[in-house]
Amino acid sequence: MENKSSNFIRNIIMEDLKAGTVSQIVTRFPPEPNGYLHIGHAKSICLNFELADEFKGKTNLRFDDTNPVKEDAEYVEAIKEDVKWLGFEWDGLFFASEYFDEMYRRAVLLIRKGKAYVDDLSAEEIREMRGTLTEPGKESPYRNRSVEENLDLFERMRKGEFADGAKVLRAKIDMASPNINLRDPVLYRISHATHHNTGNAWCIYPMYDYAHPLEDAIEGVTHSLCTLEFEDHRPLYDWVIRECEMEHVSRQYEFGRLNLTNTVMSKRFLKQLVDEKVVDGWDDPRMPTISGLRRRGYTPESIRNFVREVGVSKTSGTVDARMLEHFVREDLKLKAPRTMAVLRPLKVVITNYPEDQVEMLDAEVNPENLEMGIRQIPFSREIYIEQDDFMENPPSKYFRLFPGNEVRLKHAYFITCNDVIKDEQGRVKELHCTYDPETKSGSGFTGRKVKGTIHWVDAKQALPVEFRLYDSLLLEDKDEEKSLLDSLNPNSLEILQGFVEPNMKDAKPLDKFQFFRHGYFSVDPKYTTPERIVFNQIVSLKSSFELPKS
Ligand code: ATP
Ligand code: MG
Repeated sequence: MENKSSNFIRNIIMEDLKAGTVSQIVTRFPPEPNGYLHIGHAKSICLNFELADEFKGKTNLRFDDTNPVKEDAEYVEAIKEDVKWLGFEWDGLFFASEYFDEMYRRAVLLIRKGKAYVDDLSAEEIREMRGTLTEPGKESPYRNRSVEENLDLFERMRKGEFADGAKVLRAKIDMASPNINLRDPVLYRISHATHHNTGNAWCIYPMYDYAHPLEDAIEGVTHSLCTLEFEDHRPLYDWVIRECEMEHVSRQYEFGRLNLTNTVMSKRFLKQLVDEKVVDGWDDPRMPTISGLRRRGYTPESIRNFVREVGVSKTSGTVDARMLEHFVREDLKLKAPRTMAVLRPLKVVITNYPEDQVEMLDAEVNPENLEMGIRQIPFSREIYIEQDDFMENPPSKYFRLFPGNEVRLKHAYFITCNDVIKDEQGRVKELHCTYDPETKSGSGFTGRKVKGTIHWVDAKQALPVEFRLYDSLLLEDKDEEKSLLDSLNPNSLEILQGFVEPNMKDAKPLDKFQFFRHGYFSVDPKYTTPERIVFNQIVSLKSSFELPKS
């Protein structure tokens, strides 16, 4: 597919390289290890890694682990796995916490220069005095402490003499700035918490707006890409690099976040779903996480192609979630073996078929990719068809099986329904049909035509398996007033017991197939056992979605 990665950031990089202001580009993907990555992160990952690849630059994976309370080593490992699975290799692997010493030294430098001070105001007082878009902020009574006093207090903050929230270090910039981010932002806070990496070595932690530019500058990042919410923080980003006298000057560029229709991507919400066991983990196939998409059966190619198609712009729009489905269908069309699967079985006895006879029928593994060869499908007197491929009293235009009607069994014969056998409750238990030996698939039979073709599996030899069908986690018409947890779709998971062709017995976790008429399915790695394969539906076969013409 055409590389659509042409975008404004790419243009900036080309200009920088041409002008010689940058000799080799360095980008970074900087997740906070406080949750698993989601499809929105995939956009940032692809952007950073693909730009660096294209211009022979480097990309670091950097864990932005400056908030000890929410972070965990489990997330670090999961994030590494997801980035690798998406197909990328990082150059440097860093933790922001490795730079705590340097960050502290730079903060001391700011104090010495009169550019930072220790403030005793509470978080709430600071917020109240920050002013609004129309009103300037008020200066803290502690703003004019002497350099000596600030140095002493900051050191004692570090030594652990003060309780959480008792003091902060603030930049001394301008309480009347029209940009609220520049009204003496907090640089350090006290938190007596154990950090996943530095343990109890620190009890003061740098704030994002102070830490991030320093992390970038320390690593020599040339183009620091972030989402649009940080546009107003850029003057502060530049201030930190300048006032901390960093040798390397990184530049921040903002792009639009990826949002998907009817999908919530905030890690906080996703974590809530996991903690409250609404889903069976971060990798539940309904989750918009990378690990959820992987378990569902999405391929790295499909995600990369999707992200590329979405492109990069200066506005954040909401993308139709069906576009992601489109790309996995496209990717699997030629790769996935075709097979017949019966999700809701109804037994059919072919009364004129010899009792002990079994035939092996030939079928292409993938008619769109003949190189995949031929598979064999057993056929005998008893088969299963899909319950909804039969109706006792069909409406007009129903061309599948009903009493007296003839249909084609895919890859096999024409059958006609003669009898409907019911149980005591009057429910259809099985059908008695007859087949016409003349009509064998591939025999060139042209005697008559039938309008319906249905799929089936051999009742004796078919492999019993479990199918898991998914729908959106959130109700489409969710009430904006209600909390997200009250807007959950109660029918987001349907579990069915059915059958597939016996040739699927060796399917391995994450193997993918196209089930005739049902769509694409992938073997679930969590619930599949040596006794029973569990298939996750990735997507149905068809969608009303079409890619916009560009
Ligand atoms: P969330 O708000 O979902 O918790 P976050 O932005 O806090 O996400 P980080 O771990 O800080 O998550 O993000 C790492 C990188 O991924 C950042 O550079 C961020 O801008 C980018 N990113 C996060 N979400 C999206 C998104 N929806 N679209 C594009 N980039 C994103
Ligand atoms: Mg974040």
